[in-house]
Amino acid sequence: MAAKTVVVICAHTDDEALGCGGTLARHSQNGDSVYAIFLADGVTSRPGATAAELASRQAAADKAGQELGIIQAFYLGFCDNQLDSLPLLSIVQAIENILIKIQPEIVYTHHIGDLNIDHRITHQAVVTACRPLPGGSIKQIYSFEVLSSTEWQTPGYLPFIPTAFVDISDLWSVKESALLCYQTEMRDEPHSRSIQNVLNLAKLRGNSVGLPLAEAFMLIRSII
Ligand SMILES: [Zn+2]
Repeated sequence: MAAKTVVVICAHTDDEALGCGGTLARHSQNGDSVYAIFLADGVTSRPGATAAELASRQAAADKAGQELGIIQAFYLGFCDNQLDSLPLLSIVQAIENILIKIQPEIVYTHHIGDLNIDHRITHQAVVTACRPLPGGSIKQIYSFEVLSSTEWQTPGYLPFIPTAFVDISDLWSVKESALLCYQTEMRDEPHSRSIQNVLNLAKLRGNSVGLPLAEAFMLIRSII
């Protein structure tokens, strides 16, 4: 199969590893070109955040990207947890400017029903930037789940009901290495965002479809 161009578009550095790290690693092992677009800086909403913290979060993302085989990451640098203070159009246009350059075939992004507002806005901006115009490159859009956001939302929002599964049974160590780059973001058990619980989820999603470990997605659109 011809190599594909793939992009993960997420709100924060670490969402890519949590949501679809194994899948990205699988794409890169298959010879696909894997890109990442990060919308928010992941740091500025914290009290007393410094430039050094911002730099170290980005360095962690670069390291995780090397583990996952991401060939280029774009950091848009919007303020963390404040995407709702920006016109959606400016976020959409920032994403469009990159999509025009990389011409992806497959897009991964957040679930529309996450608790985190940046995640929800990212989803909305991505599906807007990826609207199916004539001659467009994008053939598939998938949304992923992020522990401590997707499962923490109130029942009034759209639940995450997976419709596509990627076998990551032989890629767990790669996903774990990427997560370990974000040690400051990971928590100890029984917090939902622990390495152990990421593994629990991979087992649940895998075993749900007869695999040892999997990442699960909702298919947003597929054009065949
Ligand atoms: Zn996030």
